[in-house]
Amino acid sequence: MPDIIQQLPDSIANQIAAGEVVQRPASAVKELMENAIDAGAETIKVIVKEAGKTLLQVIDDGAGMSETDARMSLERHATSKIRTADDLFTLRTMGFRGEALASIAAVSQMEMRTRLAHHELGTLLVVEGSEVKKQEPVACEKGTSISVRNLFYNIPARRNFLKSNPVELRHTIDEFQRLALAHPEIAFTFIQGDEAVHDLHPAKLSQRIVALFGKSYQEQLAPCQEETTLIKVTGYIGRPESAKKTRGEQFLFVNHRFIRSNYLHHAVMNAFEGLLQDNSFPFYVLFIEIDPKHIDVNVHPTKTEIKFDDERAVYAVVRSAVKQALGAHNLTPAIDFKADVNLINKLNSTQALTNQQYYEEQFGNSLQRSNLERWEKLFEEGEPTSRLFNQSEQDQKVTLRFESAINREPGQAAGERISFQLHEKYVVRSVKNGLMIIDQQGAHERVLFEKFITQLEGHPGGSQQSLFPQTVDFNPADFALVMEMEEEIKTLGFRFEVFGKTSLLISGIPAGTAGSEKELFEGLIEQFKKNQAELALPLRENLARSLAKRAGIKAGQKLGKEEIEALLSGLFACHTPNFTPEGDTTFFIFDTSKIESYFRR
Ligand code: ADP
Ligand code: MG
Repeated sequence: MPDIIQQLPDSIANQIAAGEVVQRPASAVKELMENAIDAGAETIKVIVKEAGKTLLQVIDDGAGMSETDARMSLERHATSKIRTADDLFTLRTMGFRGEALASIAAVSQMEMRTRLAHHELGTLLVVEGSEVKKQEPVACEKGTSISVRNLFYNIPARRNFLKSNPVELRHTIDEFQRLALAHPEIAFTFIQGDEAVHDLHPAKLSQRIVALFGKSYQEQLAPCQEETTLIKVTGYIGRPESAKKTRGEQFLFVNHRFIRSNYLHHAVMNAFEGLLQDNSFPFYVLFIEIDPKHIDVNVHPTKTEIKFDDERAVYAVVRSAVKQALGAHNLTPAIDFKADVNLINKLNSTQALTNQQYYEEQFGNSLQRSNLERWEKLFEEGEPTSRLFNQSEQDQKVTLRFESAINREPGQAAGERISFQLHEKYVVRSVKNGLMIIDQQGAHERVLFEKFITQLEGHPGGSQQSLFPQTVDFNPADFALVMEMEEEIKTLGFRFEVFGKTSLLISGIPAGTAGSEKELFEGLIEQFKKNQAELALPLRENLARSLAKRAGIKAGQKLGKEEIEALLSGLFACHTPNFTPEGDTTFFIFDTSKIESYFRR
């Protein structure tokens, strides 16, 4: 009997391998993006047409390839990333199998342009179904651009298997989002047809999350951090009440590689236990860093599964990281504002601790200690700090506490304060590691926003009685809107009654706000409608935001010493002092080292 075993021709072997690596446009985009990341790109641009079915292209400004490497990169098992099996245990790159480009080239019409930084000319390669049709020098940008046309053109069965454009596009954007989350330091653009779906600048993780998922995420993120000798977990979790009924916003990365793990997902869900409604899934973006020698990524061709040496230890750390974040950020109902707050509780509550920690970082320990010693006395002295910040009694306690904390530098005499207003727009304050510059308008909006939200959540705010109640006329639509929200508006501190068909008599405005009744009320409704048209906000959030915007201190307003101090203490008693309700920065710290750098020779 003759021998019957034959080596498969490369083109067929590649097609078979492709079946594992490239299942759809999304997988090709993922592989190309990973290569760009591995090549050290700072900017990565993804272009797709018809959800990637007719064209998908990834352009990077990474290292590029020499002419020989460009040609080699298309061979199966050709990789620059590992040399020996041992290298698998120190793996830091996304790729290592050397299969992706060979696979994609086997099932598409591919064009590659690539140039090394120090070369004048780059290389152009045109490949069709593994066959190199053209190879020539070309003038091109530094880095690599790979375009893939008509994926699976030569395997009709597979091509027919692709789903509708929206479905394929969703898959592609999912891959894009994962990589963009894993690498916030890289700029990414995603263009579908002629439209930029995403245009992401290098940023911090929190900013990247907001850029990808929307500003509403700003409010709901709590940072997570836990470290042991084995692993480090960092990232953000979403508030339990923002959990969604659908899955899809749960992201787990191991050494910056997106992975799926039911086991670790369970660890997160376990930490949320009791806080979630049935069948809802919290948002999370968690990064696990672990020495590559303790994991095996070589279990699945798409590399989204991973094996840990000690899975249970990883589980425990992930769970504990999430639990801590939930506790430290007062996301658990046991310690929320609804509890009957007395001062001791407040001081011991984790919410207060978070602020303390924040402030400890910024202002140093000694102040904190002196603050703790003095809080009682301070509270006894508790006169409202200013009319503008005439908050409820509970708020007052917190405010004073933080005020005392913020106001003194080590060694500084009581009562002496180093903060001043700049250009009637900013408040400048010296802090431990530099100069803190605060946007007065944004900061006050944040303070008021949180105050109003608390009121709307069941702690009605006080009202300032008007000496001369004012009538305000509305058009019928606005009047109907006001009546729909009557209860909420009153909770904010407005007092009014219906006075005629579509008019109101306003006899009180929220305590601590300034301005005429009419102006404030009309402003609130105007702003509410504007927000409603532009942003899909829940009613309370919209109301709180609108009033914060209208009632807050504006740029150009002169602030007295007391107002400045009250603004600072109010801000740092906030849940999210860093951002305005709209997500803009409220303050930044001009670092001492930066100042020093101006003077060094
Ligand atoms: P792997 O990423 O597993 O090594 P690939 O088939 O994806 O395998 O790529 C093969 C090789 O081609 C890589 O190891 C790398 O050297 C080179 N390469 C691929 N894409 C790029 C790129 N965008 N920039 C620079 N080099 C690249
Ligand atoms: Mg690769």
